[in-house]
Amino acid sequence: MTAPFDMAIIGGGLAGCSTALHARRMGASVVLLERGRCGAQASGVNYGGVRQQGRHPAELALSRRSRLIWGNLEALVGSDCEFRQTGHLKLARNDADMADLAAHQAELRSHGISAELLDDGMLRRRFPYLAPIYAGASFCGEDGQANPRLVAPAFARAARGLGADIREGCDVAEVSLSDQGFVLRISGDPVPVRARRLINTAGAWGAAIAASLGDHVEETVMAPNMCVTEPIAPLIGPNLGMCGGGIYIRQTEQGSVVFGSGLGIADRDRLRARPLADVTREAARAAVAMVPALANVLLVRTWTGIEGRMPDGLPVVGPSPSVAGLYHAFGFSGHGFQLGPAVGAVLAELSLDGHCATPIDGLAMSRFEKKPVVRDTAGHHQA
Ligand SMILES: Cc1cc2nc3c(=O)[nH]c(=O)nc-3n(C[C@H](O)[C@H](O)[C@H](O)COP(=O)(O)OP(=O)(O)OC[C@H]3O[C@@H](n4cnc5c(N)ncnc54)[C@H](O)[C@@H]3O)c2cc1C
Repeated sequence: MTAPFDMAIIGGGLAGCSTALHARRMGASVVLLERGRCGAQASGVNYGGVRQQGRHPAELALSRRSRLIWGNLEALVGSDCEFRQTGHLKLARNDADMADLAAHQAELRSHGISAELLDDGMLRRRFPYLAPIYAGASFCGEDGQANPRLVAPAFARAARGLGADIREGCDVAEVSLSDQGFVLRISGDPVPVRARRLINTAGAWGAAIAASLGDHVEETVMAPNMCVTEPIAPLIGPNLGMCGGGIYIRQTEQGSVVFGSGLGIADRDRLRARPLADVTREAARAAVAMVPALANVLLVRTWTGIEGRMPDGLPVVGPSPSVAGLYHAFGFSGHGFQLGPAVGAVLAELSLDGHCATPIDGLAMSRFEKKPVVRDTAGHHQA
């Protein structure tokens, strides 16, 4: 029998691939098992929003750490993954939204994130292509956008380059405990994988893996409805969103305008997800209401993906409350792309060093054991 790996990772989305890279950089022997291709699920089909502002306070330290990694991708993974610091503009519908944005500024500042509050006049001067219907906005100049298709594969390539054993087309059918750690049975492979530590980054399938080892939490699925237009001349600078959720819009360097609002449908058992025509029509109306120059721009494609959602809209990140050596990071509830790079750094440190300087207490799985959970949104997605 071969020696167990220091770490096995289930799931080659951005969270898993980043964990593999960071763990290899720390010298651990790593195997990553991905059922399909790395980055083919939520991590590769998302909107591409890379924002710190608008996040729950429990995520801000992690988000801040991630932002530092996003700015260093070329050195870390050999590609900038088309990350552009275009800024993120969160628009206020009314004075109550403006008050929320102002209160959020203090939270951002306490994590070293700066954002400016713009009144309606400033907003119109700086972003004249927006409909003149907003009370103001918060602009976070450090935020931006990236090409989701590039990111998880780039982390996987970099991890493999450092010696991680990245296995695609490898479905983990069963996990059990042994006196040496974890035994993973792979579909169609008589030889199990053994590891001293197990990282569960299985996305919308994360709660099922957790439950098979005795950690029970509720994880549903969500499928943000996405649209992209034909390329047009440069129009929109920052990544745009609404206070409290609703329509979000960005323009890529190639000129296409990507936008989303509302939810499609997903079936995680069949690995299928699809956008809905009436949701797409409503999203297109909302996009034109925000940026009137988008009227008559051709929509070329719609899509969605399978994303895990926790009852309180926050992911589970951290150690298992019941099994030593087991760590979870799943249920990112529609906003885990920006967090992914730091999630990997944190999981590698926690599992290999036993501690990590980035506070993630508010994301602990144990929060679901203590109190009843409250659903936080009315189905809105803020990318
Ligand atoms: C349409 C859409 C738009 C979004 N927009 C944004 C955005 O703009 N900004 C943002 O921050 N976030 C956004 N998100 C959320 C973000 O994409 C996700 O939170 C993030 O990518 C989750 O990464 P992950 O690695 O946890 O999961 P995933 O990328 O889903 O990866 C999990 C992987 O685990 C694998 N797996 C599962 N079970 C097994 C098994 N038994 N054996 C082997 N492999 C297994 C799966 O095949 C999958 O590849 C969006 C999500 C969607 C769907």
